[in-house]
Amino acid sequence: MEQTVEIKSKINLNPSRVGKKYFVKTFGCQMNEHDSERIAGLFQADGMIQAQSEEHADILFVNTCTIRENADDKLYGTLGQLKKWKDSESDRRLLVGGCAAQKDKELVRKKAPWVDVVLGTHNLTNVINLLNQAEDWGPITEILDEISNMPTDAPSIRESQYSAWLTIQIGCNNSCTFCIVPSVRGEEISRRPADIVNEAKQLVQEGVKEITLLGQNVNSYGRDLRIDGKARPYFAQLLEKLNEIEGLERIRFISPHPKDFKEETLYAVRDLKKVCKQIHVPLQSGSSKILSKMHRGYNKEKFLEKIDLIKSIVNDVSLTSDVIVGFPSESDDDFIETLDVVKYSQFDSIYMFKFSPRPGTPAFDMKSDFIEKNIIDKRFIQLKELQTEISTKRYSRFVGSQQKLLIENTSKKNKNVLTGKIDGGHITHIEETDLEFGDLINVQIYDSTPFFLKARLI
Ligand code: SF4
Repeated sequence: MEQTVEIKSKINLNPSRVGKKYFVKTFGCQMNEHDSERIAGLFQADGMIQAQSEEHADILFVNTCTIRENADDKLYGTLGQLKKWKDSESDRRLLVGGCAAQKDKELVRKKAPWVDVVLGTHNLTNVINLLNQAEDWGPITEILDEISNMPTDAPSIRESQYSAWLTIQIGCNNSCTFCIVPSVRGEEISRRPADIVNEAKQLVQEGVKEITLLGQNVNSYGRDLRIDGKARPYFAQLLEKLNEIEGLERIRFISPHPKDFKEETLYAVRDLKKVCKQIHVPLQSGSSKILSKMHRGYNKEKFLEKIDLIKSIVNDVSLTSDVIVGFPSESDDDFIETLDVVKYSQFDSIYMFKFSPRPGTPAFDMKSDFIEKNIIDKRFIQLKELQTEISTKRYSRFVGSQQKLLIENTSKKNKNVLTGKIDGGHITHIEETDLEFGDLINVQIYDSTPFFLKARLI
């Protein structure tokens, strides 16, 4: 796939590394994926070129995550396997960054001493400097408790030429008891609106048509900012500014927090032409008791009020959500409340997770309330069946309708099928060989499944 290089910072090239091949192996969420684009950008600005796979790489960066089940075991298992990779050629370099490195600090070094550089989420932009130091002096670990530079100061290599992540905020001020983010990503810091708008304009000049605003809690954007002593910019105002950018076609955002939705944000989604009518509303649980144990800052009733508010303002909005099944002390009745809220909300799709205790989070210490695995598995299947039924209905509403489709890729299963997204974010397939990536076309939807749509060119 074609790549785009965006150089924002001047880096002194290390002649011994120019032309070497790098590979970035990413685990976890969109924030990590975007961080990996920054790491790739820094490597490329240092003169390295991207390898097709880790086997062909001289420099390998493992961007770690702590969210998924058994993430720590998987990480140390991966690092164990990579020892062979590292040892097979003397000038190979292995770097480990991301949330697990930030959380475990010295543990990565202790368990995998063959790693050349261990760095945290707060000093990602220092990666080249650390690599230089490791080459001169041997393995190095640098984990900062506070952020040194915004990762957005780094250059970036994007996977897609037409869609781009745009970080508007890092860190999180909430304290959800299942989540490691506040301790590994630090407090919420918003970028200045002018910087975000400039970056968006730059992306458009490079051919980007769709941007996805990225942050842990995007709809609280700006609450830490004072611009020239005046009121903070709200998320809705940021959307307005971005909507004015000529050449930009679509704006999405992820992830908002249900408790922080303001009416003005919803009016912005409704009225601004380029803002997609797609809203992610992470439920996590439908039980007020469990939501309180999760520290989510809303109860079942408040969540349902938000759903009503969103639907009353944004006509035919596409809603998506996250649900955790089997949080400590979740009873059958609590789970039934989750099913009730899912039924009521009619999400187009949900991301479902089985609760997995993450060391370093308050939920990890709720051991006496942990739910048996077979109960979690059963509930998970029940939720999946319900959501598949709802998604079938929700996706079928598009059949016969006309939509705008941004072509982004070829189908993994069939190279003659192109895929992209319609405004609502639904994956849509089209069998048209004359189209190109980046085309924004009018299509008619002729078929649906609970997971994707099928379209024809109009
Ligand atoms: S809002 Fe909660 S789940 Fe989301 S990043 Fe912050 S602490 Fe984690």
